[in-house]
Amino acid sequence: VHRGRRVRSMATRGGTVVTVGAAETLRERICAAIALEHVTELTQHLVSVRTVTGEEAALAEVLAAELARGGCEVQAREFADGRPNIFGRRPGRIGAPRVLLAGHTDTVNVARWERAWPGDRRADPFAATIVGDDLYGRGSADQKGGIAGILAALHALERLGLEPACDLTVAFVGDEESGEPGTGLSAGVRQYGEMVRNAELPTPDFAIYTEPTNLRIYTCQPGFMIGEVIVTGSSSYFAYPSLGRDALRAAHTILGALYEYAERVAAAGEHPQIGRAVMLVTGVRGGEGVAVPGRCSIEFIRTVLPCESMDEVGDEIRATVAAAPLGRDVTAEVAFTASRDHVLGGSPSESGRGAPEVESLAAALALAGGTPTIAGAPYWSEMSILDDLGARAVYFGPGDIATAHTPLESVPLPEVLLAAHALALFLAMPLALRGAAHSES
Ligand SMILES: [Zn+2]
Repeated sequence: VHRGRRVRSMATRGGTVVTVGAAETLRERICAAIALEHVTELTQHLVSVRTVTGEEAALAEVLAAELARGGCEVQAREFADGRPNIFGRRPGRIGAPRVLLAGHTDTVNVARWERAWPGDRRADPFAATIVGDDLYGRGSADQKGGIAGILAALHALERLGLEPACDLTVAFVGDEESGEPGTGLSAGVRQYGEMVRNAELPTPDFAIYTEPTNLRIYTCQPGFMIGEVIVTGSSSYFAYPSLGRDALRAAHTILGALYEYAERVAAAGEHPQIGRAVMLVTGVRGGEGVAVPGRCSIEFIRTVLPCESMDEVGDEIRATVAAAPLGRDVTAEVAFTASRDHVLGGSPSESGRGAPEVESLAAALALAGGTPTIAGAPYWSEMSILDDLGARAVYFGPGDIATAHTPLESVPLPEVLLAAHALALFLAMPLALRGAAHSES
């Protein structure tokens, strides 16, 4: 601010002052450089290539070519046999903030898809059919629309000859989705983490992972653990019940204890953005014909708040089961079946909460014409693996998570376009934009 002439400065960093006027010019240039047709074409192309977890290689060449078009040095590296991650780099000046844009390239499978669309042109999950503003197809929301947004943003900066004002890494990783046997262990993003630890890639200060958020900015996520209580007794012919050890009856006692525990979990503290943790019994299986049931299993899922510890929650569940009276010669064992970044499951995260870059991203979104909303994710993804690297991480991407993993999966193309605009603006001035969302309103 100079005497006699008020300049509405959006923020300062390292002596840079970005005025509202300069931001407006940039906005006009960037918005003009990204056409809806371009993001539509990109999204259609990505969705048309089937990449159910395990098939990530099918998109490798396309992603490499599009990243190169966006001015990146490109590197493909296999995290498992025949399954590559694709990395893009645009190194910045020394001291520039290090930004990671990340997305997963794999999708869940297409079981049940065709049946949901009898006689409709959306029946082919890889046709990328457009109806109204929405593009339908497996992976459209989760999360090829987000990847298209990243690519379109990079293409625009390249076309305009704008250098990102950051040191940029792009990571398109596989193995995020669970559902296919032997996969879904976050092997892709773990390889990225190894490369950062080996100093092959820079440590990110801030990471935007393009999970579908309908362009809300999710700065935290719950953790989760999925498990099974295996109750073992012994079977006997129904006419001689005293010879058997009834596992189903013991499971009944354990169920009671788990439901009481679930009530305690529901009554415990609340996270301001994630809400309360959930303990849910999701299934019971047992019995074997006309005999004393010798075996029974109880399935459960527990979400974990950032203020809770995964290990302690695991101990609570084990202790709940151990305290239930089971009867003579019946045992119960708790097994956790969905290990991600923690042996018991996936860790909670809130590394993005209060991060200065979140304000910049919100400002970029507002400048692009969106309405920034900062919230907590209702799901788990790989955010916690990024915070292990020291990054402040958020989810931000087009599409509704509610359609993901269903035959209704679709992404609104105007959201993909808005994501591309916001990401391009963020990259062009990642920290200078801080506070603009407020000064604009
Ligand atoms: Zn996803």
